[in-house]
Amino acid sequence: MPCVAEILIPLALDSAYSYAVPAGLDLSVGEVVQIPLGPRETVGVVWGVRQSPGGSNLRPVTGRIDVPALPDALRELVDWLARYTLAPKGSALAMALRLPDEAALTETIRVGVRASGKAPARPTAARTKVLAVAADGAMRGKSALAKEAGVSLSVVDGLIDDGALEAVALAPEPVAQPPDPDHARVPLSEAQEAAVRELVALMNPAPDAPPPTDAIGDPLPAAAADGKVPPPGAEAKAPTVLLEGVTGSGKTEVYFEAVADCVRRGHQALILMPEIALTAQFLDRFAERFGARPAAWHSGVGGKRRERIRAGVTAGEIAVVVGARSALFLPFADLGLIVVDEEHEAAYKQEDGVHYHARDMAVVRGRIENCPVVLASATPSIETRVNAERGRYRRIALPERFGGRRLPDIAAIDMRADKPERGRFIAPALVAAVRETVTSGDQALLFLNRRGYAPLTLCRACGHRYQCRNCSTWLVEHRFRRALVCHQCGYAERRPESCSECGTFDNLTPCGPGVERIAEEVAELFPDKRVIVLSSDFPGGAERLRAELQTVAEGGCDIVIGTQLVAKGHNFPHLTLVGVLDADIGLTSGDPRAAERTFQLLQQVTGRAGRGEKPGRALLQTYQPDHPVIAALLSGDSERFYEEEIGAREAAGLPPFGRLAALIVSANEREVAEAHGQALARAAEPPDGVMVLGPAEAPLALIRGRYRFRLLVKTERSIDLQTYLRAWLARGPKIRGNVKVAIDVDPQSF
Ligand code: ADP
Ligand code: ZN
Repeated sequence: MPCVAEILIPLALDSAYSYAVPAGLDLSVGEVVQIPLGPRETVGVVWGVRQSPGGSNLRPVTGRIDVPALPDALRELVDWLARYTLAPKGSALAMALRLPDEAALTETIRVGVRASGKAPARPTAARTKVLAVAADGAMRGKSALAKEAGVSLSVVDGLIDDGALEAVALAPEPVAQPPDPDHARVPLSEAQEAAVRELVALMNPAPDAPPPTDAIGDPLPAAAADGKVPPPGAEAKAPTVLLEGVTGSGKTEVYFEAVADCVRRGHQALILMPEIALTAQFLDRFAERFGARPAAWHSGVGGKRRERIRAGVTAGEIAVVVGARSALFLPFADLGLIVVDEEHEAAYKQEDGVHYHARDMAVVRGRIENCPVVLASATPSIETRVNAERGRYRRIALPERFGGRRLPDIAAIDMRADKPERGRFIAPALVAAVRETVTSGDQALLFLNRRGYAPLTLCRACGHRYQCRNCSTWLVEHRFRRALVCHQCGYAERRPESCSECGTFDNLTPCGPGVERIAEEVAELFPDKRVIVLSSDFPGGAERLRAELQTVAEGGCDIVIGTQLVAKGHNFPHLTLVGVLDADIGLTSGDPRAAERTFQLLQQVTGRAGRGEKPGRALLQTYQPDHPVIAALLSGDSERFYEEEIGAREAAGLPPFGRLAALIVSANEREVAEAHGQALARAAEPPDGVMVLGPAEAPLALIRGRYRFRLLVKTERSIDLQTYLRAWLARGPKIRGNVKVAIDVDPQSF
């Protein structure tokens, strides 16, 4: 009987297409094949194979492609992801199947030089210096040699031309080295020891031990509580563990031991990180502990390197990957552990294309692979806390800082009473605290989560406010770049000399502060102090940024002014004072997650203080010292905050106590978007337990020239949200013209 293969193509298609399998081609599920699609050839993955009496009218598979097959676990993850997020299955596949493109095949070749033994034609002093260094016959990079000899690169080049130095193409740097789990074990504190013991025991249950009842039950995270795929197996599933410890408690050392245990047993480990900037610093720390560099996976990793990492992971040769969220879709041969560091971070949510949350997807992959998942955080998300409280996750706590260090004392500066002068933003009490700190040789951090100079620019004569031409956002002045910039779409224009509305010359006024403006104020207050300003638009790129972070860590500056880029993860041992310039930022937004986000961010940033020898303190500039979030921070009582916040979510039926999805309808014309939204709403027919709100203008009503309307769907927890959404969309209006409907299950802001 002829054979038919269901081929899933990594494009925005909902299901697999049927192709005939030519006689002699023996295909298995997961294999990558070439197939005709319309007039051209493309690639796809075999999703199913069946014998079929018909099928002779189908186009045949062209042939197999010689790349490793997609592992079963990964195919299961793709199916799950598509079902849960309602993304086209092909789009979900595209995240797991990244085939090498043209760019991937070129890799810059590393060149080494060494002495050839031949004398140079003209032995100048500089040349002699180089040859003296090279005399040991060792292979060096060109610039390393020039640097060591203290000459310019051109001298080295001259010697190569001359034949006195020989240039040799080197094999590319390995993408990862084998980690040694026992390379540099640090003696752990008692609390850390206990945590490691508990963690490792959970990871390796005795073979005849009864399955931990609390680890089964609801097999999926609350935010991803779907309950259908993968099926709740009868066999024991590896646990998900919340590793909760205050900033500086030594969580990293604890989960490093879990990674070591996993590597010792010959399995692979994946450590997820929320941001690239963190990954760079983290890799050094990993290398110190394990004597080897792990494979780093993020958007900055080049094509050929990506291919080598994929191959190494598939073959099981790479033991540890440290990566951003997309590393979840790597074809691990034998995954034994997933760690999600800073699990509460919003950066884990992908907000375009397939809208997925990498933390939830990590838990799902853990279930599929039957491997433990560790979620680490000082300020866990409400979802994760609730899951831990309900026994779905195990919780291991490190309540104190490592080495007996105290958490910083946190106090408020009531901005209604202690006002800075007009046009100034640092309150006198904070100025005094900074002075005291830097005078005694310590470091201070001023935190403001606003890039640029001023968040709004207006004309004093006519009141005109500068707005983005593509988005419903104000343009942010960046003095350094002399530009007004949209933080949403990147649109930038020169800062005009005169108002573009009324023409008045030199009358533009910045409103409110950004970090650049704070830097100006600090320069006037402390002219002889060394100041570093750090934000994600730091000029000079990732390398310079890394160097600046290093400078801060080594104490090479007195005052750091920074956005959330410096708030997280970093270890600055000389930092003893953190001043938060606008602790209320975020609290005023209507987003129900605002309190949680503000609490997490402020807890993180104040936690930067006092990580070294000296104790630290933090001052919060606020207009609402009695706000529950501020009060919880001041009292140091996180438990109270969680209790209140979880109670409020439960009362409102918000996640994780109910389910939520957003439908964003966008179009080039406002009326078209709105009309489509209204037609969708008419087709909603919500059953009991489902509420549909909107359409209303989305919080950002215009982005990149597209008008956006939003519908919110809120359901009780017992409702199968995905099934309802599918049925609704199926009876909803046909998509016409440039209309797009994006579905966001578990939206992060709502
Ligand atoms: P967290 O991840 O909980 O914020 P870290 O793991 O970064 O905490 O640890 C905080 C600081 O304490 C770091 O400087 C780390 O090097 C140090 N530290 C933690 N555990 C140990 C240990 N067992 N021995 C020595 N230093 C440790
Ligand atoms: Zn814009």
